Amino acid sequence: MISLINVHRHYTGGGREVRAVDGVSLAIARNEFVALNGPSGCGKSTLMHLIAGLDRPTSGEILVNGLALDQADENAITNYRRHQLGIVFQFFNLLPTMSALENVMFPLLLQGVARYRSEQRAREALAFLELGDRGDHFAHQLSGGEQQRVAIARAIVHRPQLLLADEPTGNLDSASTASVMKALQTVAEQKLATLIVVTHSEEIARAASRRLSMRDGKIIGETFT
Ligand code: ADP
Repeated sequence: MISLINVHRHYTGGGREVRAVDGVSLAIARNEFVALNGPSGCGKSTLMHLIAGLDRPTSGEILVNGLALDQADENAITNYRRHQLGIVFQFFNLLPTMSALENVMFPLLLQGVARYRSEQRAREALAFLELGDRGDHFAHQLSGGEQQRVAIARAIVHRPQLLLADEPTGNLDSASTASVMKALQTVAEQKLATLIVVTHSEEIARAASRRLSMRDGKIIGETFT
């Protein structure tokens, strides 16, 4: 489903070149659950941004479901991001002026799905994340773990084929980490999406079907579980 061939992303600044991603080749099959870890600055976020179509490689090929992200035009990338991709961030990024339900409806409304249908599907997604009774709450009325599960509901409500999460539990206590981990595990078990999770959490890495370690822009280790 995802294939990276000798991908590089170099930054130049102050006369110096940083090889944030330095020759990564990788193939990820549909419905794999991949955990990616490595020290700060090793290129994890850059790699995620490339796969998310938020950034383009300096060289190399990135194919997702047959779409060459390194070459695709802006329309194709927008379409990819809107329909095939869900993203979860460390800091939840819920819109504070909207209720949980409205936050989850948002990607569907962007796609042009009718309001009543968007609401129905958003309610289903919240129920799936065991937040059926939290739809009317605003972000500040929810715990960190609940906010992150709302963010996961929002990221999967449009049924993307690929879910990317960048340190989804980096800002959570252990009880909330467990609830978010369970949610990600359920997504993987029910084969709702291919999952790539940047994480330092040993628990999440253990739940994954494959673990990748990165250092200095390169994948230096791989374990299948
Ligand atoms: P990680 O997510 O593993 O912490 P990043 O992908 O954020 O690592 O960063 C990898 C390297 O690329 C770091 O050395 C970082 O300073 C550098 N880098 C990231 N983004 C930029 C940028 N926009 N401009 C210049 N250097 C960058």
